[in-house]
Amino acid sequence: SKSSYKWRRVLLKVSGEALAGDHLQNIDPKVTMSIAREVAAVTRLGIEVAIVVGGGNIFRGSSWAGSSGLDRSSADYIGMLATVMNAIFLQATMESIGIPTRVQTAFRMSEVAEPYIRRRAVRHLEKGRVVIFAAGTGNPFFTTDTAAALRCAEINAEVVLKATNVDGVYDDDPKSNPNARLLDTLTYHEVTSKDLSVMDMTAITLCQENNIPVVVFNLGEPGNISKAIKGERVGTLIGG
Ligand code: UDP
Repeated sequence: SKSSYKWRRVLLKVSGEALAGDHLQNIDPKVTMSIAREVAAVTRLGIEVAIVVGGGNIFRGSSWAGSSGLDRSSADYIGMLATVMNAIFLQATMESIGIPTRVQTAFRMSEVAEPYIRRRAVRHLEKGRVVIFAAGTGNPFFTTDTAAALRCAEINAEVVLKATNVDGVYDDDPKSNPNARLLDTLTYHEVTSKDLSVMDMTAITLCQENNIPVVVFNLGEPGNISKAIKGERVGTLIGG
């Protein structure tokens, strides 16, 4: 489908933390509903949307492995399962407002969701379905940011849109430095050399090697998700 927007196919990364909102449980239904509504609006414009969900609102492997003596791989598999919970919640929310949505998992859970099959994912997108990629990359020691970069490259999406709880990337920590400035644009090199905590190194270098731009933006700001998907200026753009 032709559209007059900047992107034709996007990869939206939603972190677990963003999904938590201010709800006492791990997932805030207000947040998932606002994501669903904004995604619905842009799919109607003909923009194809794939989503990678995080799991940090439920379980983060690295912090458990450090504090409990649990081995890292086991902890990471639990973390990957957490992303599947988020994915199913988000899918149910999207389908409740009529958006056809498929979940594909990086390891098989065939009673629950489709396995990840690249060509099938692309076919779903072409048919106007939203595809949610769950279970990260399927490998321990990776993150869902890396899964976002990987899936983006695989399905030939044009950009990773990283929805977070902050307005974008700052030149310093805005919590400790009130004069920290929000940056409009950044190069990959600036991110890696200044060790700006945008994404882990594996994720950002994968984007760099494949010339995938990354937009970091605040999902809490109403309208931001659809703005980001439509290619309007929002947050911080990393590229070049
Ligand atoms: N994880 C993993 N491999 C992956 C993606 C995720 O092992 O490819 C595990 C890891 O333990 C991670 C957890 O799943 O801490 C949740 O993912 P992540 O921390 O990336 O979620 P987010 O920060 O986006 O909420």
